[in-house]
Order: sequence, then structure tokens, then C-alpha cells
Amino acid sequence: MTDCIFCKIIDGELPSTKLYEDDNVLCFLDINPINPGHALVIPKVHSEFLSEMSPDYAHPMWEAGRKISAALRNADIKCEGINFLLADGSAAGQEVPHVHLHVIPRFQNDNSGFNFPSDRKAPEKDEWTRIAESIRKNV
Ligand code: 5GP
Ligand code: ZN
Repeated sequence: MTDCIFCKIIDGELPSTKLYEDDNVLCFLDINPINPGHALVIPKVHSEFLSEMSPDYAHPMWEAGRKISAALRNADIKCEGINFLLADGSAAGQEVPHVHLHVIPRFQNDNSGFNFPSDRKAPEKDEWTRIAESIRKNV
């Protein structure tokens, strides 16, 4: 896609600090890292949402995320944990409309958040069942 910054990175029109590349994915450092080593894995095909993407590209993206997570654990940064984050749609925080998996090194008390609200509660039983049925029908 011509005006997509991640497609431009794939095509070499924009620079990136590459960590890993194969026929299906490119992995590079995020320009505004949450912590040092914050990586992005992008499929080499343009798609805004994961649900629209062929498994031929989606599967390699998750496998590259696994590979990068192993590298982050072995690298000098010695991260203590890792968040895998995929913001799918602007309501979920997606800013770049090209599917990308964040692989984020984490440290105890790094104050970077990702906390779920503390006031969560389970829905009523009927609502619970209705939601589950509706999703099951669409899998
Ligand atoms: P999103 O909010 O869409 O899940 O995340 C987009 C990520 O892409 C952000 O963390 C942002 O820092 C990163 N990003 C945006 N533009 C560039 C760029 O040109 N180069 C690199 N390396 N990262 C970028
Ligand atoms: Zn793109």
C-alpha cells in the first residue's frame, strides 16, 4: 500500500533497524520504545486487521515474535518479562494500519502499565451464555 509507513519500511523506502527478516516477516526496533529492545514484527503483506490476513502470513508473524522473545531473553538487556501486544483497530490503540506485533521487554517496576481495570466483574449468566454462543457461531 503506497502511503503505509510499514510497507515503505518493507520496501526499503524508509529506514529501520532490522533484527530479523525472512520471506514472510520483517522485525525491527520500535522508534519510540517502551523499554530498550522493544521490537515490532510485521508481515510482508499489507492488511489493516489480523482477521483479514492470510494464515500464511499471520502464522509466521507469531513464530517470529516467539523467536524474538527468545533473543530478548538472551540479549544483554536481560529482560525479566515480555508483553506481546497486537492493537487491532483504532479502538484498541492501533495507530499504524498495517498489522504488527509488539514484542516488549519488561522489567519489575518499570512503570509501563498494561494493567487491567481493578473493577472488572463477570457478566450475568444469561449474558455470559449469549456472548459465548454468538462468538462460537462465528468461529
Ligand atoms: P500501534 O499504536 O499502531 O500499535 O503501534 C505503532 C508503533 O509503531 C508505535 O509504537 C510507534 O512507535 C511505531 N512506529 C511508528 N512509526 C515508526 C517508524 O517509522 N519506524 C519505527 N521503527 N517504528 C515506528
Ligand atoms: Zn502496509
